[in-house]
Amino acid sequence: MFEKVLIANRGEIALRIHRACHEMGIQTVAVHSTADAEAMHVRLADESVCIGPPPAGQSYLNIPAIIAAAEITGAQAIHPGYGFLSENAKFADIVAAHEIAFIGPTAAHIRLMGDKIAAKQAVKEAGIPVVPGSDGGVDNDADAITISKSIGYPVLIKASAGGGGRGMKVAMDESEVGHALSTARSEAKAAFGDDIVYIEKYLGKPRHIEIQVVADAFGNVVHLGERDCSLQRRHQKVLEEAPSPALDDAARAEIGEVVANAVRTLGYLGVGTVEFLYEDGKFYFIEMNTRLQVEHPVTEAITGLDLVREQIRIASGEELGYTQSDISFEGHAIECRINAENPRNFTPSPGRIKNFHTPGGLGVRIDSAVFSGYSIPPYYDSLIGKLIVHGRTREECLMRLRRSLQEFVIDGIETTIPLFDEILDEQEFVDGNYNIHWLEQLLRSK
Ligand code: ADP
Repeated sequence: MFEKVLIANRGEIALRIHRACHEMGIQTVAVHSTADAEAMHVRLADESVCIGPPPAGQSYLNIPAIIAAAEITGAQAIHPGYGFLSENAKFADIVAAHEIAFIGPTAAHIRLMGDKIAAKQAVKEAGIPVVPGSDGGVDNDADAITISKSIGYPVLIKASAGGGGRGMKVAMDESEVGHALSTARSEAKAAFGDDIVYIEKYLGKPRHIEIQVVADAFGNVVHLGERDCSLQRRHQKVLEEAPSPALDDAARAEIGEVVANAVRTLGYLGVGTVEFLYEDGKFYFIEMNTRLQVEHPVTEAITGLDLVREQIRIASGEELGYTQSDISFEGHAIECRINAENPRNFTPSPGRIKNFHTPGGLGVRIDSAVFSGYSIPPYYDSLIGKLIVHGRTREECLMRLRRSLQEFVIDGIETTIPLFDEILDEQEFVDGNYNIHWLEQLLRSK
């Protein structure tokens, strides 16, 4: 097992990784920008290294500075968290070239899944159902129209290098294809430096359901059930729950097995998430994320497994040590992403937190790196904490979530907490009756 791990991230996820390391008796090295010198992830780590000025491009994405920090401190492994360098295959290659362990999958798998066209083809061959669409990239109006006609309107044009919901355009009919294609391509070029796009059938009322997997280097693969991430705004997740209100045990076991078998065929290593849209009882693959996800705690709550611990164990060459039949799902969990944003128009609200008081009690978990007196820097994303509640049933979970939100005090900045109060007032949400468009429809109706 490693003795020292460098955490190449910041905020709540850096703290999350630090916690797993310390429980395993592993020393931690924090890296930070000059804006984060006083941050909690730096204070709690055993050692810290400043890697550059505030903009992420010069600090948290600064590969030479991060490698130098690992070498100076003698860290044997690097955990990239999520975002930043976590899905950068070149970084994984460079880490390995320096004989440091990358806590994540192989660079080859990161590269494969980062190319969404190649990923779709690979998982299809491994037996996973995909959204009907083009076989590869589409770069001209005539081809786009032919393909769209054959799959049927509406269609969605998506960036092959896409992420974060960017570079996606819907075409309702033939007259919209040309414009959608050119705007998707230019958005993709601007956001990802790559204008390759592909076409998919646009599903009208799907849920977003993703399957968590864990795989070791000995061919053992286990699925940890699903997370329902249908509550979204601008294709970005806002609240996640497990299990999904839309799946029964048989459907869960069936898709779980399909995914676990495919992941075994692909020779994947580490934790990963296979994302699907789910409509009319059918699953359609959209992408695979080759990293720890923001919403991993809901899976931890219902399985009792520490996913970061599993990542570290797998990266150090250990076997899983359990099989599918050892996994059971206990109760229900919901996570709310609390952002420093205006809850109506979602403009960022950086600044100083005067008072920070978190809810507690049975079944309540807070993953956050902020504290009273902390100033949120304007340079990074607006997630300031996650509230995760667990109950024996969904009903108990909702009750616990309501009272936890009432207890939460964050003074001095605006947060998205009031949005969750509004969501919990909606009968359709209480009934578990919502799809990926539900939240945007609710926001438009207010
Ligand atoms: P990204 O990598 O940018 O997050 P994804 O492929 O994971 O892109 O899709 C993000 C979200 O966009 C999905 O959760 C869903 O809300 C929406 N979406 C993606 N593909 C489709 C589709 N074919 N039909 C309808 N909505 C889609």
